[in-house]
Amino acid sequence: MRRKDREVTDPVKIREIITACDCCRLGLCDGERAYIVPMDFGFTEQDGRYAFYFHSAKEGRKLDLIRRTGWAAFELDRGHALVEGEKACAYSARYQCVMGGGPVTLLETAEEKRAGLTAIMAHLTGRDGWTFGDAALEAVSVLRLEAEELTCKIHE
Ligand SMILES: Cc1cc2nc3c(=O)[nH]c(=O)nc-3n(C[C@H](O)[C@H](O)[C@H](O)COP(=O)(O)OP(=O)(O)OC[C@H]3O[C@@H](n4cnc5c(N)ncnc54)[C@H](O)[C@@H]3O)c2cc1C
Repeated sequence: MRRKDREVTDPVKIREIITACDCCRLGLCDGERAYIVPMDFGFTEQDGRYAFYFHSAKEGRKLDLIRRTGWAAFELDRGHALVEGEKACAYSARYQCVMGGGPVTLLETAEEKRAGLTAIMAHLTGRDGWTFGDAALEAVSVLRLEAEELTCKIHE
């Protein structure tokens, strides 16, 4: 990161930002082109290693690309605020942002899917204890992104 003064490595702060974000944008490769898709998400974290979970219909462009490439970049941000200045060049913007990338897999078993959906519901609602019937599990795709790369930047 060029602006080292804005890089965040504190794991507590990184987790706080991810927890507070409500949308994760996935960046996918489509040949020579890029495809960005905003998604709700959930996550798990162990020793600073994050896995992000997403639910989806079983078909569509993003799933085609994930099946083809098996990899995605991701980006989450919060806390946008305009910092006003005397002239245009003096304006600035506050933000908190996490981005990275890693392999994405489509979860196959009911147990894997249940765990992924549980992480999503926990993040969206702040509550645990959700149940998912077999038909509901069968009807959705659940994606798991292993964050092999993850950086955090704050502009205060
Ligand atoms: C805040 C937010 C949260 C979301 N959460 C989820 C989620 O958890 N799970 C989920 O499956 N989807 C979610 N969506 C919808 C998601 O962004 C996609 O629209 C959806 O997943 C279909 O993607 P696809 O690649 O299968 O598109 P397809 O249905 O295959 O459509 C392909 C084309 O449709 C257009 N398109 C697709 N999505 C969008 C879009 N969002 N906005 C404008 N044009 C679009 C693009 O031109 C794209 O090339 C969310 C959207 C938002 C804004």
